Amino acid sequence: MSDTHSNGDSKSSVKLPNIKFTKLFINGEFVDSISGKTFETIDPRTEEVIANIAEGDKDDIDLAVKAARAAFDHGPWPRMSGSERGRIMMKFVNLVEENIEELALLDAIDAGKVLTYGKARDIPFGASVLRYYAGAADKIHGKTLKMSNQLQGYTLHEPIGVVGHIIPWNFPAGMFFFKVSPAMAAGCTMVVKPAEQSPLSALYCANLAKLAGVPDGVINVVTGFGPTAGAAISSHMDIDCVSFTGSSEVGRLVMQAAAMSNLKSVSLELGGKSPLIVFDDVDVDSVVNLALLGGFANKGEFCVCSSRIFVQEGIYDEFVTKFVKNAKNITVGDPFDPSTRQGPQVDRAQYEKVLSYIEHGKRQGATLVTGGKPSGDKGLYIEPTIFTNVTDDMLIATDEIFGPVISLFKFKTIEEAIERANSTRYGLAAGIATNNLNIANTVSRSLRAGIVWINCYLAFDADGPYGGYKLSGFGREFGMEGLYKYLQVKSVVTPLHNSPWL
Ligand code: NAD
Repeated sequence: MSDTHSNGDSKSSVKLPNIKFTKLFINGEFVDSISGKTFETIDPRTEEVIANIAEGDKDDIDLAVKAARAAFDHGPWPRMSGSERGRIMMKFVNLVEENIEELALLDAIDAGKVLTYGKARDIPFGASVLRYYAGAADKIHGKTLKMSNQLQGYTLHEPIGVVGHIIPWNFPAGMFFFKVSPAMAAGCTMVVKPAEQSPLSALYCANLAKLAGVPDGVINVVTGFGPTAGAAISSHMDIDCVSFTGSSEVGRLVMQAAAMSNLKSVSLELGGKSPLIVFDDVDVDSVVNLALLGGFANKGEFCVCSSRIFVQEGIYDEFVTKFVKNAKNITVGDPFDPSTRQGPQVDRAQYEKVLSYIEHGKRQGATLVTGGKPSGDKGLYIEPTIFTNVTDDMLIATDEIFGPVISLFKFKTIEEAIERANSTRYGLAAGIATNNLNIANTVSRSLRAGIVWINCYLAFDADGPYGGYKLSGFGREFGMEGLYKYLQVKSVVTPLHNSPWL
């Protein structure tokens, strides 16, 4: 047995979530879709239906945009002081924190996310992002301008308007807060479209926002599919900004639709093929743990996964032996089981995509050192998989697999490591493991990635901006940089006493 699989025997004692919300949330109410259609959301542990969810399309997006527009043009949210918005957002944070378990349960059943991690990390981190932006809401300032020609000016930072958020399934609740929080702080109103694979927690969050006192129409949630509901957001003439997280392919479509409609502003958080570079001065045991975290967290369904690990030749053999041994000990299984470290892939399409990349790797001549197969006898589980003897041009080295598949590479020099780490279409994240400060500084400056972790990985913080270079997109999430995309800057200019204008 190459890995361990917990078969969910604990299921009888497991607390499953209570599915309360399955309808669209528009203008403060849960409503059916206009067409009356629904779609099934599936439990990846069993591929059974969890619930039927209202299937929103273009007409529902229109309705939601009208509600958001009315709330923006006439409602209290953009007009109240930043501190008042922050106060309501803090109430929202408190409710999220009271509902950590429920939200983690929803993401576990809907997206196969490990419950213990959801409770300990994902939902608390989402809440921390909401808290950060609650605190930022009254710190949005323009500046005074000292102008020539007897003019005086100042800038106003105004909310951009109605925002469309399109989000993926890998961090359903977390991503809801990453998107909604800065836009709320800015004073925007919004329409959120969760991924069709994982709509449950966004609807639950919408209800918490209502309970917290967020005015009707500020947050609307339309569940549905990408080519219908998602595309209706990117091409909508009355949405001012679209913030998209997902694949680079769909990111292109979103930008195209934005350009061809009303030239709405766009921010894109897209895919990655992130390198972790391990230099031979490190303690191998501790870096093996770092690499396991970076590579296999969230079953590899993580845009910043360190799916390419470059190890310097002096420690390569030792690293491979220990890394493979530890990967074999990762318990794959039911995400509700407290002993599980890796749950099922989110849906059959992703599961098959990952397995087909593994086949490509084998066919193209890489050495499969562990994993490579489904795990367990039902559900969408895949063994943690490691390849060696991978060349930089193999598909498993170039493409984002978005699953528990890691390629290990051997390198000699710093220059070689930098060049190979950068030889990717993507530029989202990177990691460096070394005790040599000069190497760490040199390499971090040379890597073309939006975030570089030195001797850590996945070290996110609400205050630390993050986003892509190259095909990983543009725009930043978190930090004050994550707020700016939801603001417009207006200059206001007046003549002074002796100005020729008077
Ligand atoms: P996806 O691009 O297929 O879907 C993402 C969202 O876009 C979903 O809500 C989907 O319904 C919607 N969508 C699909 N087609 C659309 C269209 N034509 N118009 C508008 N919206 C459309 O991506 P996915 O498979 O759900 O997610 C995986 C991808 O997301 C990976 O590539 C991953 O790297 C990326 N991702 C990036 C980040 C980041 O922060 N950079 C974070 C998480 C995931």
